[in-house]
Amino acid sequence: MLDSAFFHRWTVAVAAAVDREADRLTELDSAIGDADHGSNLRRGFAAVARAQGEEPPGSPGAVLGSAGRKLISTVGGASGPLYGTLLRRTGKALGESAEVSLPAFAAALRAGTDAVAQLGGAAPGDKTMLDALLPAVDALEAAAEQQEDVAAAFRAARDAAESGALATVPLRAHKGRASYLGERSVGHQDPGAASAALLFRTLAETAEA
Ligand code: ADP
Ligand code: MG
Ligand code: MG
Repeated sequence: MLDSAFFHRWTVAVAAAVDREADRLTELDSAIGDADHGSNLRRGFAAVARAQGEEPPGSPGAVLGSAGRKLISTVGGASGPLYGTLLRRTGKALGESAEVSLPAFAAALRAGTDAVAQLGGAAPGDKTMLDALLPAVDALEAAAEQQEDVAAAFRAARDAAESGALATVPLRAHKGRASYLGERSVGHQDPGAASAALLFRTLAETAEA
């Protein structure tokens, strides 16, 4: 079972990972966007970690909900509302229970990912964060169904997210700023897919710590 302390550790670890990887994310965004993805997420997740340090929310759902709202209010770029919606909807789906099971978390992340797809209107293969998020959630659901333990399930989700992010390289972007480049977006990894993979890498690390 996953408690609010786990989700708190995860969001703080994401802030640290995003801070470490901000230059790489911005570099990816400089090739097919406006070179701000790393700084956008750094600002957003730093605010999340700061707010939760001051007053850690009481349930897993509340931790993710407040993190999502913080991202929406602090990140101006497309990724703020999109990641904000992911966490807010995932948190909402978790409800108010003090502990959540792996199947419940997988189902909640599915709801969060569906909300991202609805908000941004992107489909799989459009070269967005969804190309990492969707395979990760698929892997998480499959692992939960096979009753794997949490750490193994998160490793499977991480591997799927990382493969999904790398698989965006040959794709042509159909959503977001990168789509303005048309064919010239081909040959570059999508920055949002790379940061989504980072989210799942951090999840796996948090379960192992
Ligand atoms: P901005 O593009 O506004 O500068 P960021 O650079 O922070 O915002 O985020 C860009 C990332 O957001 C993209 O790499 C992509 O993964 C994601 N993104 C952009 N538009 C969409 C969309 N409509 N649906 C899903 N993801 C999107
Ligand atoms: Mg950008
Ligand atoms: Mg921008």
